[in-house]
Amino acid sequence: MKATYLCPHCRGAINAGNNIILSAKTKSKKVGLILLHEEIGNYASEQSSSLSVEEGEVVDLFCPVCHESLNIPIKDALAKYIRIDENLKESFIVISRKYGERITFKVDENKHIESYGEKLSRYIDPDWFLLK
Ligand SMILES: [Zn+2]
Repeated sequence: MKATYLCPHCRGAINAGNNIILSAKTKSKKVGLILLHEEIGNYASEQSSSLSVEEGEVVDLFCPVCHESLNIPIKDALAKYIRIDENLKESFIVISRKYGERITFKVDENKHIESYGEKLSRYIDPDWFLLK
């Protein structure tokens, strides 16, 4: 069985095919969908033509099912959602909301952290894992 990704609010599945599908809004109020590859550390992504997010732009991310915010409410531009792996183990995936920034964390139920991607030095302080 493949991994399933869930919204932390409604626990609706937010992946289909090989993509995680997120609803997005830019600071200039452009809206659309962002598709992220479901494989952790694979930064292939696609977006709706109505969004046209540029490299370095920060977007607000929402669940495509219930429309709740997936943003983590701290100064760093991060979002989180839930991953359930093939053994039904649940973890949080934390990603950057800055387009083109390749940062991913996986935090399991014991708060064990695995990090993927680049430019990790900004996020060493793990306090924000405890934020709801
Ligand atoms: Zn939801």
